[in-house]
Amino acid sequence: MRLDVPTLFAVVTLVALLMAGWVSFMAWGKPARDALWAWGLALVAYAASHVIFAVLNVVPSPSLVVAGNVAYGVALSLMLLAMRRFDGLDANAGPPVWVQLQLVLPVLAIVLLYTVLMEQYAARVVAGSLVFSLQIGFILRALLDPRLPRPGRGRYILLTAFFALLSSLLLRALAAAMGWMSSNNDEAGRLWLTMVFVVALCAVISISLGFVYMTMERAEQRNFELAMKDMLTGLSNRRAISDQLHMAVSRAQRQGQYLSVLMLDIDHFKRVNDGYGHQAGDAVLRGVARTLQSRLRAQDQIGRFGGEEFLLMLPDTHLEGATTLAEALRQAVEASPTQWGAHSISVTISIGVAGGVISGAHTVDGLVAAADAAMYRAKQGGRNRVELADMSSLLPGGQAALPPAVPRD
Ligand code: GH3
Ligand code: MG
Ligand code: MG
Repeated sequence: MRLDVPTLFAVVTLVALLMAGWVSFMAWGKPARDALWAWGLALVAYAASHVIFAVLNVVPSPSLVVAGNVAYGVALSLMLLAMRRFDGLDANAGPPVWVQLQLVLPVLAIVLLYTVLMEQYAARVVAGSLVFSLQIGFILRALLDPRLPRPGRGRYILLTAFFALLSSLLLRALAAAMGWMSSNNDEAGRLWLTMVFVVALCAVISISLGFVYMTMERAEQRNFELAMKDMLTGLSNRRAISDQLHMAVSRAQRQGQYLSVLMLDIDHFKRVNDGYGHQAGDAVLRGVARTLQSRLRAQDQIGRFGGEEFLLMLPDTHLEGATTLAEALRQAVEASPTQWGAHSISVTISIGVAGGVISGAHTVDGLVAAADAAMYRAKQGGRNRVELADMSSLLPGGQAALPPAVPRD
């Protein structure tokens, strides 16, 4: 297949500009705008390089050869900058020196190589392709940085597009090195250029889509965290732990498995706030959350259920096992004071435990109420202790364990 090269240039330019416009439009007022604008600018540079290549096709000129390739190099540098901005890798102090070098040196190398090798077509194409490949290598490395969370689909689109771009550049370099083409204007050269620009067209669409999709995925992830996480402690919030409990109860009912629930409440927490201030209270809440979380098994779930109340859900755990864990948690919290300035603030917790083999007669509300009632008895019994729920009261005919009539925060 041989396509008309000037038409291809024009199409790539138009698509790149269109994408740059939409990406900039999407960046307006968004948290990731710096990265998106850098990406939009990269697409403008990408379009500019193709405009220059198109003009070059009609008016051959050494300075245009340099300018077109420099614009292409600038586009790749801006993409690297955008990737690092997006990932917050250089958030505090701007790009480190080695990244600044990755951004600037390839562009300078292009100026130098294209100026020096202007008369040697094959050497010029090989050298240029290798520099661009190196730039794409930097982008791929940023995309796969091990400090980042698992890549989402947007990142996979970008990886695919950059790998395709890299392969086409290396192939063209190989063709030039092997003498399969001797200029951009001979039959073979045009064929290779066609290949490069078809890939470039697919790449520009894919990288724009990939980058925008990546920002959307991250916004979605943040919204999910906002909806499901407690911002102070980083634990699941009440809605999330309740959802998890509903799922676990259904599963345990279907399979007739054990499930236990612990309700925990910090003792005399008001005294911490009154004595050391609200911020110290927040620090203690975070400290207790950390202590609890560090002692749970992988399948256990914990959530902040209210102000200084936590709910724990222990799948496959009978009442005795849950009581042992509750006692261990009680001791751990007692033994782990929170440092607050010069103070070491100790708190204790009271725990109510409910659990057993879950049947169709059990409900989430019933289990939580039973654990809550047991926790209330622990408070009444002197605090800093573990109390067990009367599970028979949860079954039909039993006395329902209603929550105590005390004020809740
Ligand atoms: P008890 O042993 O009976 O549980 O006594 P208590 O003082 O812990 O219980 P109470 O429920 O009367 O007080 C809980 C306090 O927790 C009241 C509220 O101001 C405080 N609190 C709730 N949420 C937060 C929070 O996010 N940060 C801080 N610092 N305090 C909170
Ligand atoms: Mg309390
Ligand atoms: Mg409370």
